Amino acid sequence: MHRNPNYSFCPQCGGQMTHKLLKKGEPKRLVCSACEFVFYLDPKVAACVITEVENKIVILKRAIPPEIGKWVIPGGFVDVGETVPAAAARETLEEVRLHVEIGPLVGVYSYPDTPVVVIVYEAQVINGVVGAADEALEVDLVAPSEIPWERLAFTSTRQALRDYLRRHYPEV
Ligand SMILES: [Zn+2]
Repeated sequence: MHRNPNYSFCPQCGGQMTHKLLKKGEPKRLVCSACEFVFYLDPKVAACVITEVENKIVILKRAIPPEIGKWVIPGGFVDVGETVPAAAARETLEEVRLHVEIGPLVGVYSYPDTPVVVIVYEAQVINGVVGAADEALEVDLVAPSEIPWERLAFTSTRQALRDYLRRHYPEV
């Protein structure tokens, strides 16, 4: 995702957007020169889960960019009007066909070079047979000692799995 898109026209009135310092100490904002509409470039929230089937962690191979072909935990973007845990459960069902109950927070992961804030929960499988669905090329169940660290898609995936292992499998 582009971090600082240069939108030219105001989504409200079609006027010319310009970069303007509105408040000292904050970044310049995209402001409409005609109606003064401010286009705030906000973070995007993604919700993910770490869940296990028979003591193995559920991971899936991404079927869509970015990082196509690499492995992630189930998850995706939170919709407006949706709670973060509900989004995590919805994405898990969509991607790996598992109904889960969302449990404790694993962690919140954010980085200066991406607008995405990743919120990761532990989850318990309620029912469903694990299988690849939406946006997944393949699903795998991996023992904590067999996580494919070099083939994980994102820094947040790696950090969340490390935090989870530290809590539940300190021997790994
Ligand atoms: Zn405008």
